[in-house]
Amino acid sequence: MTAPTPPQDRLLTVLTDAGIRDERVMAAMLRVPRDFFIPSTFREHAFENTALPIGHGQTISQPQVVGIMTEVLRLSDRHKVLEIGTGSGYQTAILAQLCRRVYTIERHKPLLKEAEERLAHLRISNVTAKHGDGGVGWPEQAPFDRIIVTAAAEHEVPRPLLDQLAVGGMMVVPVARSPIDQRLLLVTRHQSEVEVQDLGAVRFVPLISDMLEPSRPQSVA
Ligand code: SAM
Repeated sequence: MTAPTPPQDRLLTVLTDAGIRDERVMAAMLRVPRDFFIPSTFREHAFENTALPIGHGQTISQPQVVGIMTEVLRLSDRHKVLEIGTGSGYQTAILAQLCRRVYTIERHKPLLKEAEERLAHLRISNVTAKHGDGGVGWPEQAPFDRIIVTAAAEHEVPRPLLDQLAVGGMMVVPVARSPIDQRLLLVTRHQSEVEVQDLGAVRFVPLISDMLEPSRPQSVA
């Protein structure tokens, strides 16, 4: 009989199969214990390549998606990063290994509190978190070198987030063109133009924001 695969080996296989090649991203993801961010009922599935419930109708994203979104941002330890949608704090913990400081916003207060407790327990100290509507961004702390949005914006990249992205900065954001068509976009802000790259189909919970007008026409991708 073969020995059971240790969880980290399973995660390594998931990330390798997803095409993650950046060794810093790989190492950060192997350092952060995903099972610690998951309610006990689902903990046995922590190292499977699947999204899992974290309460309040929200989910912790698939490791594969976390890996891809982290890798495409090409983070450096000089970067100041804005994250919209703290959720369990898992993605936050990974970002915190790879950049100078993470600013993270979550609209569900109890989720934010639990995430902050987990980050404190893991002695992650370069994260500033707040409760609120991430659709407005965090103007007092802008500009950001990188922005990651972990919930799907309706129709278009939220304008406040684009405005708070530094010139030369990058943002990864899922955008729902329709209820059944979400695309993961990589947005790069140049001096006088914005470049948008479509990274493919994804499925995220919606970004709930007063800033987003549902009926606005699509203007990206
Ligand atoms: N990255 C998270 C993790 O590792 O657990 C998973 C994020 S979950 C897919 C999306 C999160 O975005 C949810 O926790 C949801 O409450 C949050 N969210 C949705 N709309 C938001 C908004 N306008 N501002 C802040 N957070 C928002």
